[in-house]
Amino acid sequence: PDGRVLEVRVISAGKKYTVVVTRDITESKRIDDFRRDFVGNVSHELRTPLTVIQGFLELATENPNLNEEDRLHWEMMLEQAERMRALVDDLLALSRLEQDAAPASRELIDVDEILEEAAAEGRMISGGAHEIKIAKVASEGILGDFKDMRSAVTNLVTNAVRYTPKDGKIELSWEVKDDHGILSVKDNGIGIAPEHIPRVTERFYRVDKSRSRETGGTGLGLAIVKHVLFRHQAQLQIESELGKGSTFKIIISKARLAPPINSKDLLSG
Ligand code: ADP
Repeated sequence: PDGRVLEVRVISAGKKYTVVVTRDITESKRIDDFRRDFVGNVSHELRTPLTVIQGFLELATENPNLNEEDRLHWEMMLEQAERMRALVDDLLALSRLEQDAAPASRELIDVDEILEEAAAEGRMISGGAHEIKIAKVASEGILGDFKDMRSAVTNLVTNAVRYTPKDGKIELSWEVKDDHGILSVKDNGIGIAPEHIPRVTERFYRVDKSRSRETGGTGLGLAIVKHVLFRHQAQLQIESELGKGSTFKIIISKARLAPPINSKDLLSG
């Protein structure tokens, strides 16, 4: 009633007694809200100036009168501006997701479309260095936010490319078993040691900082994935073996599964 925020946890619930622990989290929630809003505002304000800088740098690198050394310098600046832009975009996406705790919308998502688009993005950043294929696709749909789910799957696929040496294989699939759907992205890349697995979805957590920087990651990809999935009541499962590869599985609960869609039937019927 006085605006305080309490966390209530049921420790044990018996027939006679129920043990409940309450904790006043007003202050930590206030700090967390402040951090989130601050990061959101700063990223928003940085976008426009960055767009302008990026635009002029693009023009500068295209100048035909540049000598080789100058061109190299302009290109390096452009690359860094692009990295900063990616970081700002990811920070903005993350603060938007954190701000909105409501369950995701329930659009009918054709998973095939998401897999195709994520694979295309993966092929673009791989530049033909990896084999990226879509294995199985169940015909059930997902009820969710198309853009957010696409960004989650694209993050998993671009990671698979980044952490898989060239000539590696990446396989995407969508299966429905019993009462849940499994959307998986499997790679045969560098893998993740068991002690790191529980932490990779934390903001800016990277197993190998220099490698992530080299490959152009922002350190926020899996944090974004985690938030998107949370809003879809979905789970992320990570199976990985160092030196062998990783499989990231998105587990979709029955409540978010849509009956099989067969667009071809609809068209011909
Ligand atoms: P980044 O931008 O650094 O890739 P992410 O949040 O997407 O940030 O991932 C966090 C860390 O998890 C990465 O830095 C990397 O160490 C590890 N990781 C993510 N995906 C994979 C993968 N497919 N194979 C091996 N390691 C991975």
